[in-house]
Amino acid sequence: MKVLIVEDETKTGDYLRQGLREAGYTADLARNGVDGLHLAMTGDHDLLILDVMLPGLDGWQILDALRRAHKDVPVLFLTARDAVEDRVKGLELGADDYLVKPFAFSELLARVRTVLRRGRSGAEPTTLRLADLELDLLRRRATRGGKRIDLTAKEFALLELLLRRHGEVLPRSLIASQVWDMNFDSDTNVIEVAMRRLRSKIDDPFDTRLVHTVRGMGYVLEAPDAA
Ligand code: CA
Repeated sequence: MKVLIVEDETKTGDYLRQGLREAGYTADLARNGVDGLHLAMTGDHDLLILDVMLPGLDGWQILDALRRAHKDVPVLFLTARDAVEDRVKGLELGADDYLVKPFAFSELLARVRTVLRRGRSGAEPTTLRLADLELDLLRRRATRGGKRIDLTAKEFALLELLLRRHGEVLPRSLIASQVWDMNFDSDTNVIEVAMRRLRSKIDDPFDTRLVHTVRGMGYVLEAPDAA
């Protein structure tokens, strides 16, 4: 999944690009409207995240130009807090959704997934799998070996992250920022406790372990034959 971010605020743009990359997307970033439109016209993106106020061309002009060129890539607008008319105008021009600044990254990610699911049905896998473990993202259901596993919302998010990036050692700091949406430097307890609970559900009742601790580094989800 390839996402184009058009955002002139340096920090916001960098933050979005990094967050989306960590969530497993390919993310391009344009810092002004002209570059943004050019990339949107020439690149094969699955989603555009478009700031409204931009130097060069604003977000509406970009969207308008894309729709005129029959580029029907889904668009998620980023708008200022009180700009109700902006939102109406964006949706009228054919935006798929909008998000009001400032927003939590987890909220953006949820919108991104929803828009992508609507935009290109079937393009994003709706079930993640590793060995006999399955996570059905639409029905919000986990099974292992066909057995239903009940997960809390946090455990589900944690397992989704581990599955999306299975085989990769995920540092606690990354898990904290992706699943808890927090900056995390002192208390590792939250993650350790959640990980222990998750393991007791997806590993303990079964013969083979999928969740592994890498001392001093983090956690990895891996099938035994891949180790
Ligand atoms: Ca801006």
